[in-house]
Amino acid sequence: MAILLNGKKIAAKLQAQIKETLQEIKLSNLGMPRLAVILVGENPASLIYVSRKRKAAEEIGFFTELYQYPSHVLKEVLLEKIQELNNSDQVHGILLQLPLPLPLDSFEILSAISPLKDVDGLHFSNMGKLMIGRPHFSPCTPLGCLHLIKTWNQELHGKNVVVVGRSILVGRPLALMLLEEGCTVTIAHRQTDDLAHHCLQADILIAATGSPGLIRGSWVKPGACVIDVGITRIETKQGYQLVGDVVFKEVEPIASAITPVPGGVGPMTVAYLLSNVLKAYCLAHNLSPRPFCL
Ligand code: NAD
Repeated sequence: MAILLNGKKIAAKLQAQIKETLQEIKLSNLGMPRLAVILVGENPASLIYVSRKRKAAEEIGFFTELYQYPSHVLKEVLLEKIQELNNSDQVHGILLQLPLPLPLDSFEILSAISPLKDVDGLHFSNMGKLMIGRPHFSPCTPLGCLHLIKTWNQELHGKNVVVVGRSILVGRPLALMLLEEGCTVTIAHRQTDDLAHHCLQADILIAATGSPGLIRGSWVKPGACVIDVGITRIETKQGYQLVGDVVFKEVEPIASAITPVPGGVGPMTVAYLLSNVLKAYCLAHNLSPRPFCL
């Protein structure tokens, strides 16, 4: 039976640590960290994610502000707002909720965010720093996954890792982070031949595809650590259900550690967003960021 890597519990602990740091900051009269969130369109999942992130931020004492635009907003309007937020001393972090509706180009809009306020770690300059092994702001979901993998409490050097999914948001940055930890990393994707064969070699298997039920028990090496990043909303008679990429009931008896969905990677993503905002705040005020996360 596998250890359950309980993201909800671990994230709550991280958030409590951030809150504690904020109490110390409060005494110095510098004002609280402020996160600006830009939301375009009415994507139901994005509305939920934004509300969760703002709620978590406000619960620990951050200020948040939301800039909401219709899906037909012109890119010039977004670029102007980002410029204003970049120039504001009051704002420490800027989050552009993805995906953006077409024809907006997320690369173009993300590139306008100051790399010093890019708390999602998706600006090309922050991605480049991660690539060369000198990370500044790294993407929150991969940071959360790495934290969960480290709680598995095994030496990471030399471990075979398979990351299924090669997105800029999750798969690629996580593969780089694990490479930096001394793992041997394979990135698999939709075009990979014989995916099951690759997955079976993995000491650490990460599924970040959005394909529910892709990873079966027969694809998992006994004793592996399995991280399920996928979240798909499935309609049920009772409403809807969130499901991952991994068939939990088949994989759990084979793996030595596994994340649940929900309550695994999702809460860790939010905790690392808050951690990045705090880091941006500390850097803006020449305080040394507390290394309580990664
Ligand atoms: P994406 O669509 O950008 O990328 C998906 C990747 O998976 C692609 O590289 C694709 O080639 C690969 N893929 C898809 N189906 C596959 C299959 N059948 N076999 C092999 N490879 C396949 O998605 P993303 O933004 O990386 O997100 C992936 C999943 O993770 C989604 O379910 C998303 O909702 C979830 N997600 C969760 C969190 C969180 O905090 N828990 C954060 C971000 C994304």
